[in-house]
Amino acid sequence: MRNDFSLMIHGGAGALDNVKDERIAVRYLESIRVILEYGRDALSRGATAVEAVETCASLLEDDPLFNAGCGSVLNENGKVEMDAGIMDGRDLSAGAVAAIGNIANPVQLARLVMDGSEHVLLIGEGALHFAQHCGMELTPDHYFFTPDRIRQLDEARLRGRIMLDHDADGDAQKYGTIGAVARDSNGDLAAATSTGGIVNKRMGRVGDSPIIGAGVYADNETCAVSATGYGEEFMRTVFAKTIADAVEFRDADARDAVDFGIGYLRRKVNGRGGAICIDRHGNCASGMTTPKMIHGWIEHGGESFCRF
Ligand code: ASP
Repeated sequence: MRNDFSLMIHGGAGALDNVKDERIAVRYLESIRVILEYGRDALSRGATAVEAVETCASLLEDDPLFNAGCGSVLNENGKVEMDAGIMDGRDLSAGAVAAIGNIANPVQLARLVMDGSEHVLLIGEGALHFAQHCGMELTPDHYFFTPDRIRQLDEARLRGRIMLDHDADGDAQKYGTIGAVARDSNGDLAAATSTGGIVNKRMGRVGDSPIIGAGVYADNETCAVSATGYGEEFMRTVFAKTIADAVEFRDADARDAVDFGIGYLRRKVNGRGGAICIDRHGNCASGMTTPKMIHGWIEHGGESFCRF
């Protein structure tokens, strides 16, 4: 058993007004707790950081509570278009997919792009073609749709707006984008982020999650970061890399680096969202500009904690 690992996961940021309903809050926290423990088991048996973030992100994608994989939010045409990215802090290798449907676990396809192609980012039809080339099965449309998502899109259309999955609008059913960061017992870092994006987004819109340095980043010499919130604001501030740069150039630990990144996001673009971060020493930190972010962590193999 190997115990000096750290692991953090998140399930999206926003107003999360629905968690005032205790039953909904319990469902979120239970899902986060179970997936953290699954990750603990994998890491203590010697899984690498990349394997751990892929496993945790896949489990979060499989849970229709969250806005990724099954249960992804719908775009303006009522379609699911998902984005995902993964990064290995050992050598800065990275893989990502954008604007895809019919893949149950976009993070696994992102991993295949990282390990099995010469590219970093594949989109749409080309990404699906690559998936099939790798032997990945396509999943029918109906797997991704949930009644809550259809209702949520109808509301967003009525209001004539795009919105974060967790934005406040009086609807009790809100779920979120997902991410995972890990430091394994060898000291290697990795990060993964996966999302259905934002509700009522334009067809073809790509957010920050598959953009290396915006919604996902990992470098063994600094930290691993996964972000959630309005992707446009994260892309404009290169949010995840800004946090990593605070470690690199200001000698910050995870706590100071996240505070620096959140301060920068707020000051530059009044950005809405948050991030989880594990630094090269295994310290965990999170921060957000939204009222809440669903997340959980295990620091240095200790107890697990789950919070909004
Ligand atoms: N960052 C995601 C996007 O803009 C959305 C989210 O985190 O909820 O696509």
